[in-house]
Amino acid sequence: MYELIDSHCHIDFPVFEPDREAIIAQAKLAGLRGMVVPGTVASGWPTLVRLAMTHRELWPALGLHPMFMAEHKEAHLHELEKVLGFSKPVAIGEIGLDKQVEHGDYHHQEHFFKAQLAIAKLVRLPVLLHVRKTHDEVLHHLRFAKHETGGIVHAFNGSEQQAQQYIDLGFKLGFGGAITFPRALKLQRLAGVLPASALVLETDAPDMKPEFETSERNTPLNLPRILEFIAHLRQDEPAALAKQTTQNVRDVLHLTAA
Ligand SMILES: [Zn+2]
Repeated sequence: MYELIDSHCHIDFPVFEPDREAIIAQAKLAGLRGMVVPGTVASGWPTLVRLAMTHRELWPALGLHPMFMAEHKEAHLHELEKVLGFSKPVAIGEIGLDKQVEHGDYHHQEHFFKAQLAIAKLVRLPVLLHVRKTHDEVLHHLRFAKHETGGIVHAFNGSEQQAQQYIDLGFKLGFGGAITFPRALKLQRLAGVLPASALVLETDAPDMKPEFETSERNTPLNLPRILEFIAHLRQDEPAALAKQTTQNVRDVLHLTAA
């Protein structure tokens, strides 16, 4: 059994309502020390904060996700600052830029991303990034904002050079189920060449099902097999890679041992 942390999963989503407690209990038995649960929309924050208060293995982040722009209001940015005061999240997230969103308003996304980077700077928290087809833009904004508290680029799918730029800015790169597909050669090559000190593992449950998941839904219980897959392609000992990637999450998000 490997000691693991799911660095990105949405266990707070309604799809887990019927069996959330069972999954959290099973995950613990499967070696998961915890899950980082990013916020997506302001209306979801109360549930997330409440869940994290009753489960010490859930580490919440709070933020406004770029795929849900239609739900975000300017007032939510002020609300975010207020909620941060008493809810003690481990990061601001998930935030970022996504050029693949249909009918997306990119400038609107940019406005919320910049504002949330400023909040992260103010409260000195790392950020959980959602980046699709926008790595150069996101890197530009991180540099412009003089972001110094690092974070995680979730479901990283950029180039090796972009990976290095994130690493230089104090970021870890998240890999999950997408890498398990035979056609994911670029991702597999990347996870093979990046230093282990830069990698973190994630499921992004309930989304991003790995190839071996046959049910409708992805769960954090898939994390050990994702670890084994990545360890195999790197020719690493799975136990050693588990230890390193778990420590990476703890380091970058300043998690206390649980
Ligand atoms: Zn997510």
